[in-house]
Amino acid sequence: MTEKFDVIVIGGGPGGYVAAIRAAQLGLNTACIDMNTGKDGKAALGGTCLNVGCIPSKALLDSSKHYHHLQHSYAAHGINVTDASIDIGTMISRKDAVVSKLTGGVAQLFKANKVKQFHGRGRLLADRQVEFTPHASSEKIMLEAENIILAAGSVPIAIPNVEYDNEYIIDNAGVLDLTEVPPRLGVIGAGVIGLELGSVWQRLGSKVTLLEALPSFLPTADEDISKQAGRLFKRQGLDIRLGTLVKSASVANGEVKVTLEDKNGESEISFDRLLVAVGRKPYTKGLLSDDSGVEINGRGQINVNDQSQTNVVGVWAVGDCVRGPMLAHKASEEGIAVAELIAGKAAHIHFDTVPWVIYTDPEIAWVGKTEQQLKEEGVAYRAGSFPFAGTGRGLAMGDAAGMVKMLADEDTDEVLGVHIIGPSASELIAECVVTMEFHGASEDLARIVHAHPTLSEAVHEAALHVDKRAIHRGN
Ligand code: FAD
Ligand code: NAD
Repeated sequence: MTEKFDVIVIGGGPGGYVAAIRAAQLGLNTACIDMNTGKDGKAALGGTCLNVGCIPSKALLDSSKHYHHLQHSYAAHGINVTDASIDIGTMISRKDAVVSKLTGGVAQLFKANKVKQFHGRGRLLADRQVEFTPHASSEKIMLEAENIILAAGSVPIAIPNVEYDNEYIIDNAGVLDLTEVPPRLGVIGAGVIGLELGSVWQRLGSKVTLLEALPSFLPTADEDISKQAGRLFKRQGLDIRLGTLVKSASVANGEVKVTLEDKNGESEISFDRLLVAVGRKPYTKGLLSDDSGVEINGRGQINVNDQSQTNVVGVWAVGDCVRGPMLAHKASEEGIAVAELIAGKAAHIHFDTVPWVIYTDPEIAWVGKTEQQLKEEGVAYRAGSFPFAGTGRGLAMGDAAGMVKMLADEDTDEVLGVHIIGPSASELIAECVVTMEFHGASEDLARIVHAHPTLSEAVHEAALHVDKRAIHRGN
C-alpha cells in the first residue's frame, strides 16, 4: 500500500531537513528521505554540511588554529610552551563527536516535530509518487505526497586524468579524515575548500601547494580583499600558484606525481596527498525517473523559478541542486520559503543579500556588490574603509590584520556591498546584511552606537569613512 504525506522531502541536508521541520511546524504531514550513512553505519542527517562540509571543516579549522597560536602567537602574550604537539587521532575524534552531536540533534528535531524519517534512497516518479529503497536493501516502497521537495545537494567535481583513489588522491571527505599530517599536501583549486582545508593542514605542519587554473586569486571577492588575502596567506606559508593547469596525476611508490602546465611550460611535482577541490556539481543521479517530467539544465541543476518551483506542479527544489550559490544558509532559507509557500503563506528570498564567508585566518566575509562589479555596472558609489589595526580591541587581542570596506550609492548612500578580511569577519558581516536587507545607508551604520572596545568599531569607522569623517584614521 502507498503511504501518503502532505510533503515528502528527498535529501536531509540543510536545504531538506530545514524544509521538513518548517513544513511539519506548519501542520503538514511530512516525511524526509535521506540516504546518508554515518561512520557508525546508522542514518546521519544533515547532508554534506553536517557530515563532510561546513561543520567538520570548521571543527578542524578551530583545532588547528589553537595549535598554530600555541606555537606562534602566545609567546607575545608571555605564554611560553615547550614541546607542543598535536595528536591527530584526538583531533579527528573530536571533530567526529561534534558531527554526531549535530546529526543526532537533527534526528531528535525530526522526532519532536513528527517528521517521518526514511533512511535510504528516494526517486521521484510521475504524478508525485516516490519510490523509496531502504538503506542496504533492494526492497521498493511506494510513497506519495501532494508536494515533493527535491534537496539532493551536490558532489565534488572530478577532473580528467586525476582519478580519486580516496587514499592519495582525495576529496573534501578524505581530507577531513587524514590520520597523519602529510609532509607535502597538494591542492588542485585555490577556492573556498582549498583555502580552508589547505590552511588546516598547513597549520599542522604540511607544506601546502595550491594549484589554481585561473590567473587571478579569489576573483569573486572584492579585489582589495583578495589582494590582501593573497599576501597574508603567502606570508603564512601557503604556496598559491595561479595560472597553473593540472594535466594529470598518478600514484606510485606512496606519492602522487602531478604533471602541470604554467607560463614556464610543463613540469612535474610530487605530493604525499593530493586534494582535488575544483568545485561541486548538483547530485541528481538516480533522483528522477525518466517520466518524472522534471527538467534539468545544461549545468546539471534542477530548473526552478524564483520561488523554487520546478516545471512540474507540486515539485519544488532547493539548495545545491538548483541555481545560486552552494551555501548551507542559502539552502536552508530556500527550504523554509518553500515550506511556507506550500502552506499557503507568502515567502521569498533576497539572493542579493546572501553573505559569503571563508573561514581562513583572517576570515573573509562579504555581502552585496564588489567594487569591480559596481564599476562594470556603471554605478556611482562612494567607498570607505577601516583597518582592524586601528581598533583597540584588535590590538588588545593581538589579532589586528585586515580591514572593513564599505561601498555605498553616491546619490542615495544605500549600502551596496561590505567586504571584510579580519578577525571574526564571519560574525561582523551580520550587521551589514541586516543594514542591506533594510536598504540602510552608510549614514545609518555611522549613527548607530557600537560598543567599545569591539571589532565592530571597524564597521562603524568604515561607514564614517564613506563620508570621509572617520575618527581614528586620516580621511
Ligand atoms: P546537501 O547538504 O548536499 O544534502 C543533500 C542530502 O541529500 C545528502 O545527505 C545526500 O546523501 C542526500 N541525497 C541525495 N540524493 C538522494 C536521494 N536520491 N535519496 C535520498 N537522499 C539523497 N556552506 C556554507 O554555507 N558554509 C560553510 O562553511 C561551508 N563549508 C563547506 C565545507 C566543505 C568541505 C564543503 C564540501 C561544503 C561546504 N559548504 C559550506 C557548502 C554546504 O555544505 C552546502 O551548500 C550545503 O550542504 C547544501 O545543502 P543541501 O541541503 O542543498 O545539500
Ligand atoms: P570553488 O568554486 O570555491 O573553487 C574551485 C577553484 O578551483 C576555483 O578557484 C577554480 O578556478 C579552480 N579550478 C577549477 N578547475 C580547475 C582545474 N582543472 N585546475 C586547477 N584549478 C581549477 O569550489 P570548492 O572550493 O571546491 O568548493 C565548492 C563549493 O562549496 C564552493 O563554491 C562553496 O559554494 C561551497 N563551500 C563553501 C564554504 C564556505 O561557505 N565557507 C566552504 C567550502 C565550500
